[in-house]
Amino acid sequence: MAFNLEMYPISYLAAYDPASRTWKEQWIESDRVSYSELQQMNSAEKEKTLANRNQLGLPTVSYTSQYGYGCFEGMKAYPHKDGSVSIFRPDRNAARFAHSMRGLGCPVFPEEQFVAASVEFIRRNAELGYIPTYDSAWETGNFSGASAVYMRPFMNSEGAIGVGLSREPYVVICATTVSSYFSGANTKAVTTDRIRATPHGTGGIKCAANYVMSALAKKEAEDAGFMEVVFLDAQEHRYLQEGSSCNIFVYLKSGVLVTPELGDTILPGITRASVIDLARAQGITVEERPVSIEEAMADGAECFVTGTAAGITPIESITHNGTEAIYNNREPGPVGQKLQHMLKGIQYGALADSYGWNVRVK
Ligand SMILES: *Cc1c(COP(=O)(O)O)cnc(C)c1O
Repeated sequence: MAFNLEMYPISYLAAYDPASRTWKEQWIESDRVSYSELQQMNSAEKEKTLANRNQLGLPTVSYTSQYGYGCFEGMKAYPHKDGSVSIFRPDRNAARFAHSMRGLGCPVFPEEQFVAASVEFIRRNAELGYIPTYDSAWETGNFSGASAVYMRPFMNSEGAIGVGLSREPYVVICATTVSSYFSGANTKAVTTDRIRATPHGTGGIKCAANYVMSALAKKEAEDAGFMEVVFLDAQEHRYLQEGSSCNIFVYLKSGVLVTPELGDTILPGITRASVIDLARAQGITVEERPVSIEEAMADGAECFVTGTAAGITPIESITHNGTEAIYNNREPGPVGQKLQHMLKGIQYGALADSYGWNVRVK
């Protein structure tokens, strides 16, 4: 009933034209209600406005709606200390989106077009006030309470009902207001018997169909009193894979940071890649390799999960087969906190962007 998905008023829609092999672009302006006007509306007016913003005219019956045949991206635009706005590594999202579309066997959205459309998307919505302003109070607490714009580019198929591959896909970019992915004091994780991804499957692409398993396993973990779920590998049920929709790291007592190596069951997270670079720049040895649950429980000093929505979220303990391994006395560990400080500092323009990761919008 309550329509609380706070979509931004302006969305981007590109439709693939097989004849010209190009993507025809269109800006869908649902309304010109500014952010402040929206906040002043009564709930009925607000609901009507937001419901209208969710109507992009995509086919109801499609490979996407019927078979979970689709892919998406999650990326953020950040207000900076100097008043500018930047998107964090959209070129990496563009490359991963192309990789996902190749994995789906459909026409691939060009990477340069993805970045250009993302920048223009933020610029147009920001004109109507849909961009938070930087608050230096965020700096205390490592930007844990800071705001950003969460962008959701996605692919949707043409209208279709028989099982098949998309030939005339659409690409949409929209954005919504999001609250923090994890909340509350509990940061316990638990392993699950469910399998997120199997070898030769779709686990290495950001494919819509993958997230049913994540949602089920996460709900089961939450119902059992945990914040997060940890998936193990399909074959031996022994090696760490990922969190519900985040990558996982363990900082070993030996001083080595380990994370599962990429492959067709691990999603190549951009936060993951950034954390690896930042840790190495700190002189920390990082190993991308199989990490068994036994090793993670016996030898881990810290554990954290990473993702655009999650940032770097500390894990206080992992419970596996009824045994709980506790990290850093259940407190966020110094290594994860330092990495969070560096990552968020770059994203919000409070620290120098020596890697050139930020793409400026305005
Ligand atoms: C999106 C996602 C991640 C994190 O990727 P980021 O690029 O860091 O946001 C990790 N695992 C899964 C399964 C994901 O879908």
